[in-house]
Amino acid sequence: MLPSHTPSPHIALIPSAGMGHLTPFLRLASLLLSRNCNVTLVTAKSTVSNAESDHISFFLTTHPRVKHLEFDVIPLHSSNPSAQDPFLIQYNAISRSAHLLHPLLSSSSPPLSAIFCDLLVAKSVARISADLRIPYYLVITTSARFLSFMLHLPVLVSNPDKFNSSIVQVEIPGLTPFSIASIPLPFLNPNHLLAASIIANVGVVPEAKGIMVNTFDWFEAETIAALNNGKVLSNLPPVIPIGPVQAYELQKDQSPYLLWLDDQPEKSVVYVSFGSRTAMSNDQIRELGYGLDKSGCRFLWVVKTTKVDKEDKAGLEELLGESFLERIENRGMVVKGWVNQDKILAHPATGGFISHCGWNSVTESAERGVPVLAWPLHGDQRVNAEVLQKAGLGIMEKTWGMGTERLVKHEEIGKKIVELMDDAELRNRAKKVGEEARKSTELGGSSDEAIMEIIEKLT
Ligand code: UDP
Ligand code: UDP
Repeated sequence: MLPSHTPSPHIALIPSAGMGHLTPFLRLASLLLSRNCNVTLVTAKSTVSNAESDHISFFLTTHPRVKHLEFDVIPLHSSNPSAQDPFLIQYNAISRSAHLLHPLLSSSSPPLSAIFCDLLVAKSVARISADLRIPYYLVITTSARFLSFMLHLPVLVSNPDKFNSSIVQVEIPGLTPFSIASIPLPFLNPNHLLAASIIANVGVVPEAKGIMVNTFDWFEAETIAALNNGKVLSNLPPVIPIGPVQAYELQKDQSPYLLWLDDQPEKSVVYVSFGSRTAMSNDQIRELGYGLDKSGCRFLWVVKTTKVDKEDKAGLEELLGESFLERIENRGMVVKGWVNQDKILAHPATGGFISHCGWNSVTESAERGVPVLAWPLHGDQRVNAEVLQKAGLGIMEKTWGMGTERLVKHEEIGKKIVELMDDAELRNRAKKVGEEARKSTELGGSSDEAIMEIIEKLT
């Protein structure tokens, strides 16, 4: 905590689109407030999902000291075939509109001490930062390992003979090589909206004062060391692990699924969720249901049939069948809609997590020491899954492939769930990860000290 007589720094936080990007920024905002900082949250006027707008409103109501600035995004008119994913379109729109923030940020009162922004808006923010002489820091919402890959992407795409789908491994200096299967396909095409945007934004990374990553030193020690000793890129600012950035206190929650968990034996329930924006095909959802049934385990399963929450109208009966729902009634709970994942992972009845490995889900299970069955489906998820596997937090079945490569059958799923829930050694290793995660964020821990050091520099 800063001594009360020192002036408080004023920090603007600029996340990109989607809950995976917004959540760590809101948590960081809450952490900064608790350390006497003034905080301005900057968001696009319209969000893609209801989850984003609901969480922003709730956060502002429960953190009345936070100032909120909204900006219009310029709509994307593009014939680019990659412009189909509404989140991707919004990443791009935010990125191309961020220059509009100049007048808003220059007139902030008290004047800003720093801007903390997502990598996807770095290019515009770097210009504003240079013009207004306000330092900027990056906040990275994915793993240090995936960050290393993104930082190296401009080098990789400049040599297409060595970076294409027919190679076996991607070499990045200082790191264990990446298998080509873990590289998201869009990144193999430099004209893809996402790849192009990452490449453009990576160019200004050296101008940042620091790169904060929502990870912890123990979890990704080798990668963080490689980034900081100049092996990955020679001109990087310090890479600073500040995580797992913790959830802020929510209202008392009496949701039926939490009450149901209260009635289940300790560590008996497998929690199944693929994050805020990953939908499986209806056939795969049904196989997963039979797999859960076959495993004989208790389960809490969040079903999602569309990328964007407001479009998700499918009923559970028509999707899974009434007889399935009746059969599992005493052993499982199936929900649609938003759940409080942090509370579920912290609940004593939760003994395992089937996860797509969005990075927030990985860091949340690390913090709670919950073993994971990794089922990555797209984006950075496979790289993240490898990180958690290496740290001893979970298992993965590589033959399941990514996304829609093939239908994974219920027999395979059931078997793997039993493996997850019955492995005492895995449970102990995951517990150890949880202890290390909590050590890093408690007072005097590596992540806690790192964030305090940044705040003190800005004071
Ligand atoms: N989340 C949640 N309830 C839900 C779905 C998601 O609390 O029903 C949270 C989850 O705990 C995490 C974030 O939303 O903090 C999702 O981010 P992640 O990186 O795991 O995956 P993404 O949704 O970006 O694919
Ligand atoms: N990404 C990120 N943080 C950043 C910049 C990029 O998470 O600061 C990456 C992310 O790792 C992912 C991509 O942007 O690879 C988004 O792709 P996708 O929508 O497939 O993944 P998701 O956001 O659901 O993890």
